[in-house]
Amino acid sequence: MAPVSEQTIFRNAKLADGSLADLCVTDGRFNAIAPAGNAPPAGPAAIMVDLGGQLVVPAFVEGHIHLDTSFHGDAWRPHIPCTNGFDVRERVAFQAQNLAAAAPMAERAKNQLELCIGHGSLAMRSHVMVDGSVGLSHVETVLAVRETYRDLIDIQLVAFPQSGILSSPGTAELLDEALKLGCDLIGGLDPASFDRDVKGHLDAVFGLAQKHGAGVDIHLHDGGTLGLFQVEEIAARTKALGMAGHVTVSHAYGLGDIPADALAKAGEMLAAAGVAIMTNAPGNHAFPPVAALRQAGVTVFGGSDNIRDSWWPYGDGDMLSRANMIGYRSGFYEDRELADAFDVVTHAGAKALRLADYGIMVGAKADFVAMRALHVPEAVVAVPKDRTVYRRGKVVAGDGTILAR
Ligand SMILES: [Zn+2]
Repeated sequence: MAPVSEQTIFRNAKLADGSLADLCVTDGRFNAIAPAGNAPPAGPAAIMVDLGGQLVVPAFVEGHIHLDTSFHGDAWRPHIPCTNGFDVRERVAFQAQNLAAAAPMAERAKNQLELCIGHGSLAMRSHVMVDGSVGLSHVETVLAVRETYRDLIDIQLVAFPQSGILSSPGTAELLDEALKLGCDLIGGLDPASFDRDVKGHLDAVFGLAQKHGAGVDIHLHDGGTLGLFQVEEIAARTKALGMAGHVTVSHAYGLGDIPADALAKAGEMLAAAGVAIMTNAPGNHAFPPVAALRQAGVTVFGGSDNIRDSWWPYGDGDMLSRANMIGYRSGFYEDRELADAFDVVTHAGAKALRLADYGIMVGAKADFVAMRALHVPEAVVAVPKDRTVYRRGKVVAGDGTILAR
């Protein structure tokens, strides 16, 4: 006998275009979306849920987080300022001190995951530190946590050389091992200012990507023309290796402080090469111009990055609130601009993470969030916290708290 299908009809869902619809979910996927009251006949065992006109949006995509280094849910760690202006090496040293005194990593990673799922993120890309001091211990712990949460959230892991590659002997071999263990992407860190060897750093990163068929996601904080130069080098390699759609530059601060004509050229190059840009709209810092890059055809997606870690005390794991921040810092006021900010944390994230069957459409996985909002632009401005999160058509979280495991 064939297994019985599980069917749920969500009635009176408000879609992004403002219309009311009935969403039919069978075995975790949308199999019909019809105007309210016009759902196809349901089987006798179908569950009926009346959403009462709540706005239904695809689950958020957390595109950049660090599951291994947050202290969310642990003791408060006051931020320690750098002694002589921002210095990545000094921050890594502060991080090592803080981590030595922190609660076990698995516990902290779980706290952070539950925070994100509670707010409606059901797909995530996390960077995980790999270097000579921690070896593969962070990767092993986070891989196990990913396994525990696999029914609730899809997680991609980036093997992240937090202490550089060339300036940290043995790291290239550890990164190779991390990819064998199950990391999905290879990371990088400021090839120019950290390793002081752009070619050498990118040779290692792209070499490992090619060897393992892995994607690339490089942290690039370098500003101005130094940052732009590295963005160009990454785009050129992506194109030469046929890796369009598999490469991200995270932060790319340099794109936020170069002249308009240079930005236009960079946008064209990134779009043609298929390199995505991740931003968290950092406070008091130049960041990539979201509208101009989107206009050029670049995939710009969002992430929380650090949440209560040794780098800064902010972050709430809420990608709707991140869309608000991205819109606020980008000077987005019009409805179409607010909708763009929302796209950065939903569809653009799904594209950058290459998520299959994403969105509110027939055939897609029924991963969605329901909330009281007039429409998407109002949701970005109001950031309603009262949300219900559905994974494959089943409630997993409400009011910010996980309900089902
Ligand atoms: Zn990061």
